[in-house]
Amino acid sequence: MTKSSIISGFYKLSPKERLSIIKDLAGLTDEEVRFLENTGSLPMDVADHMVENVIGVMPEPLGIGVNFQINGKDYLIPMATEEPSVIAAASYAAKMVRDGGGFHTSSTAPIMIGQIQVVNIAHAGYAKTQVLDSKSEILKKANEQDPVLNSFGGGAKDLDARVIETSLGEMLIVHLYVDCRDAMGANAVNTMAEAVSPMIERITGGRVYLRIISNLAVKRMAKAWCTVPKEAVGGEAIVDGVACASAFASADPYRAATHNKGAMNGIIAVVLATGNDHRAIEAGGHAYAAFNGAYTTFSKWTKNKNGDLEGEIELPMAVGLIGGAVKTHPIARIAMKILGVKSANEFAEILAAVGLAQNLAALRALSSEGIQRGHMSLHARNIAITAGAKDELIDRVAERMVRERKVRVDRAKEILDELSKKL
Ligand code: NAD
Repeated sequence: MTKSSIISGFYKLSPKERLSIIKDLAGLTDEEVRFLENTGSLPMDVADHMVENVIGVMPEPLGIGVNFQINGKDYLIPMATEEPSVIAAASYAAKMVRDGGGFHTSSTAPIMIGQIQVVNIAHAGYAKTQVLDSKSEILKKANEQDPVLNSFGGGAKDLDARVIETSLGEMLIVHLYVDCRDAMGANAVNTMAEAVSPMIERITGGRVYLRIISNLAVKRMAKAWCTVPKEAVGGEAIVDGVACASAFASADPYRAATHNKGAMNGIIAVVLATGNDHRAIEAGGHAYAAFNGAYTTFSKWTKNKNGDLEGEIELPMAVGLIGGAVKTHPIARIAMKILGVKSANEFAEILAAVGLAQNLAALRALSSEGIQRGHMSLHARNIAITAGAKDELIDRVAERMVRERKVRVDRAKEILDELSKKL
């Protein structure tokens, strides 16, 4: 999109008013708007073709992260999440980052790794040499499987092999490097890995068991970085607090897990909204965070010589614009249209920027007022709904609980009884 992603007072509007703005900005059709308005809009027959044993659908709220500027371009970010405050926090952080020139990003080629496990070989080292010597023959066989992917410039580009020690002895692990272009690529890679396995058995004289993609997608990385002026973040003391929180997380796996979860709050919300495989992103991100032997963070924040905050994030990002549920789920298709990306690489880079924004919002809150104040005021609305509040009573019950610092269902019921009597 070319229009600005700054939508003043977006959060104060009704869902219908917000949708009307997004319709104009993203050029949605009347039919797409009807799909979004209809909160049960995954038709049963589509759901029944997506997975097994279907009995219904499980809708999640879909919101828009605003204020995002990435590589000088504005984006509206569709986010599906059940957690209050995620979308507000991402939008708030994007605004701070915008003051420093927005996010900058880069990514590697969309290369995924297919693993082929070879066992029962007399000399694993020799078998490795035999596989490497047969590289062109193996790659040719792999590429015969997916002429469509080849036509887009993708396909199996290279291979490698490692000998690993296991509790059951030495194994030879062949890695097939496949450029997946705009697909996440698991089906494409698995098909290739299965197709070349008989050839690898013949070459090595061994037995192949597993033939499957690796979610530790270290050859498909996305990176985002930004500089946030100290004034935008709330002063130099907060810059120090965020840098200190980041140093804590890099040194301590207990904290790193929560630090990374905070970034995933944003990334997964977008991955879910677009029908991509969020388990693949979680698995890849966390495995990458432990790649050097000790679990650490995939993002970091430091203070620069001007006293401003500098942040960066880098993690594997195996996402696609086609394949899986991306094209079959009607809401995922609309979410992709709102996002307006042209390639899986552009999409991966946006996800890295969203992760960095979400991470900043969490660290800023944690190192200043604490996370509970903002979080609880949104959470209180859920508690009010759980207690039975409806319409305008939801906000009134929630506000009272936050004021009293008692955000509990029993208190919500008491307040609700009291307010209902006055109606
Ligand atoms: P897919 O097979 O549905 O689509 C990929 C295919 O689309 C390519 O092989 C190619 O033939 C074609 N294609 C058309 N236009 C293309 C373009 N521009 N760029 C690239 N390819 C193009 O899906 P996929 O992406 O291979 O697999 C994703 C699915 O696999 C997801 O649903 C995921 O959940 C699932 N999966 C994941 C794992 C895992 O992560 N471990 C394992 C198995 C399956």
